[in-house]
Amino acid sequence: MSYIGRFAPTPSGDLHFGSLSAAVASYLDAKANEGSWLVRIEDLDTLRVAAGSVDSILSCLETFGLHWDGRVIYQSQRQDAYEEALSKLQQQGHTYRCSCTRSKFKTNPQYKCPCATYRVSADQTSVRVRLPHQNITISDVIMADQTQNMALEVGDFVVRRKDLIYAYQLAVVVDDAHQKVSHVVRGSDLYDQTPRQVWLQSCLGFQTPSYSHLPIITNRQGQKLSKQNLAAALDVSQAPRLLSQVLERLGQNLPHSLHAAPVQEQLAYAAQHWNIQQIPKLMQDPIAFV
Ligand code: GLU
Repeated sequence: MSYIGRFAPTPSGDLHFGSLSAAVASYLDAKANEGSWLVRIEDLDTLRVAAGSVDSILSCLETFGLHWDGRVIYQSQRQDAYEEALSKLQQQGHTYRCSCTRSKFKTNPQYKCPCATYRVSADQTSVRVRLPHQNITISDVIMADQTQNMALEVGDFVVRRKDLIYAYQLAVVVDDAHQKVSHVVRGSDLYDQTPRQVWLQSCLGFQTPSYSHLPIITNRQGQKLSKQNLAAALDVSQAPRLLSQVLERLGQNLPHSLHAAPVQEQLAYAAQHWNIQQIPKLMQDPIAFV
């Protein structure tokens, strides 16, 4: 099977240590398997898109020597594909319009939504999928395999928001299939969302890629690094030093002599010696520079 990997950042800010680790790991796994590596900008939620962040993400990837194959895809330009997938789900009877607040489902995945039974008027409603009592089991190359019952543990989730923005869950599945992605390597914050994506793939007749979820990287307070808790943007002038720290975090043993080497040299060595099984499975200890 030919290997196609991808990195799919949301341009809500600059890359940070965690997102750079996902970029590096997905890149190296692709290169080590003689695959291609794509970049997709997940800019569907226009309210979250930060001005200038697409350019800064792409130039940061280039500074770190992470050159992508083909052209970059933007989710904001793929509305037609999401609309087509949504109508397929609608035709299959998997969707309903819903005017309930998100918190109702968040606190209780088994919330019996009245909208699932009684038609609500078409304006100002989100579209949810009606989940069956079905167990979805997925295996993960790094983390433990997992099983989730769709109706009991996940709960009917939104595929198109009230403001007509397609949800990440639908878009990611449609785009991974469109780009023929065979291997997904990404942060473990998406680990427990994977079964619902696999369920959507089965409804839409798409192949399920192989999944590898990286361990969470925390700051000194033990909080997951994200833009929300103000993960420091990367100092790209320190790219070689940062890259060797990423590789260390990923459990790849870069010889000491390469720690300050140009990024291309580090990547070439790391791709040649890449072993995904060496990625630590547990949450990392905080490290000095974050
Ligand atoms: N866009 C997501 C993020 O930046 C990643 C989606 C994915 O890799 O499936 O967190």
